[in-house]
Amino acid sequence: VPDVVVIGGGLIGMGVARRCAQLGLRVMVTDPSPGGGASRVAAGMLAPVAELHYGETALLHLNLESNSMFPDFVAELEEVTGLPTGFHRSGTLLVGFDNDDMAVLADLHDFQSSLGLAVDRLDSRATRRLEPLLAPTVRGGILVQGDNQADPRRLHTALLTAAEAAGVEIRREPVAALLSRSTAGGAESCADSGRATGVRLASGERIPAETVVLAAGCWSASLDDLPEAALPPVRPVKGQLLRLRPHTPTAGHGTAPGFLRHTVGAVVKGSAIYIVSRPDGEVVVGATTEELGFDTGVTAGAVYELLRDARALVPTITELALTEPAAGLRPGSPDNAPLLGESALPGLVVATGHYRNGVLLTPITAATIAELIATGRTPDSIKPFSPRRFMHTAATGAHPPIAAQRRSLA
Ligand SMILES: Cc1cc2nc3c(=O)[nH]c(=O)nc-3n(C[C@H](O)[C@H](O)[C@H](O)COP(=O)(O)OP(=O)(O)OC[C@H]3O[C@@H](n4cnc5c(N)ncnc54)[C@H](O)[C@@H]3O)c2cc1C
Repeated sequence: VPDVVVIGGGLIGMGVARRCAQLGLRVMVTDPSPGGGASRVAAGMLAPVAELHYGETALLHLNLESNSMFPDFVAELEEVTGLPTGFHRSGTLLVGFDNDDMAVLADLHDFQSSLGLAVDRLDSRATRRLEPLLAPTVRGGILVQGDNQADPRRLHTALLTAAEAAGVEIRREPVAALLSRSTAGGAESCADSGRATGVRLASGERIPAETVVLAAGCWSASLDDLPEAALPPVRPVKGQLLRLRPHTPTAGHGTAPGFLRHTVGAVVKGSAIYIVSRPDGEVVVGATTEELGFDTGVTAGAVYELLRDARALVPTITELALTEPAAGLRPGSPDNAPLLGESALPGLVVATGHYRNGVLLTPITAATIAELIATGRTPDSIKPFSPRRFMHTAATGAHPPIAAQRRSLA
């Protein structure tokens, strides 16, 4: 009988499961396709500073803390498994093309500097010296040295391998329902709300556990028999992106390996775009932000617009081979911050709602949620992100306004 059952084996669930096993707990992960959710699609930017949004300074601190954990997190994973994670200290370069873009960058630079973040403003010449493949019309930029990248698919494979090596049992089956027992001491049932006691798999098998971790990404609100007060208000936010590669494996440009030396982001005629260039040659162009429920279809319009804007940024990108258009579902929350900690139902711990930062937040989520489960104490870092902050909105099902085809950096 496991101490902990983790529902969902994406980056978040697998990270939590492995850390719990390292702390001596018996852990099971249930997922019909571990790593097949948003974690398979994500670009892998680790960009707390470049991705900073106004009004999200609490989240910034969590993002920065997780970013600082990344080098040790991946070094240990790579050592234990012998597998790569694609972690690369690329830095991130944000660039602008016209007066409006430069004004936006100047405001962003002031905001970042006011928070004490390390950012450098560059003129057009310095920007193009850093990235010679940028369009000659680039007017300037901001360099964020500390914003890096990882390859989410490789990272997940390494995490899964390390989790199994640490003793985590992986069941490739969906959970159908949460089991709970009433505080009045009644029989175990699925609809009761007293204390979570385990899960029921789609096959009907019941898995009892001391603690259940809900880490099913954007599907976290879809389980049967989650009591209303414990229902996390997460929703799917569709993102489409493109994967490209040089036609010959060695066709890197410039002196660094890969197509570009840095992750590059820009706003092209009002639409945000980024290009993540990995040392192994893969290039990722993203991403759309669409409120379309659980739809994961790739659209011709998104492929066209992403390529159009990427070409405005780096004209030679059209020489690459288009290897994979992809769409995934970010687990969005009402305030764009994750839900981390004990739910309103004792025994049910929530680790979801990571929206556009789930790769970045994997190390801190794994460490803090495992510590909470092992010690019963909520680490300070995640106190502002308690799932209970939404208890009133969860009950009414309130969601932020629908935005149509908007782009974000991740
Ligand atoms: C286009 C795009 C680009 C992104 N870029 C970045 C980026 O650059 N940097 C960054 O940090 N983040 C990025 N993200 C966000 C990141 O992908 C997510 O925040 C992160 O992957 C969330 O991980 P997760 O484990 O919570 O969810 P997921 O990876 O979605 O995993 C959830 C898992 O739950 C499983 N599951 C579902 N229902 C059940 C059930 N009933 N029983 C058992 N298992 C179940 C699914 O099979 C799935 O494996 C991006 C996302 C998208 C879509």
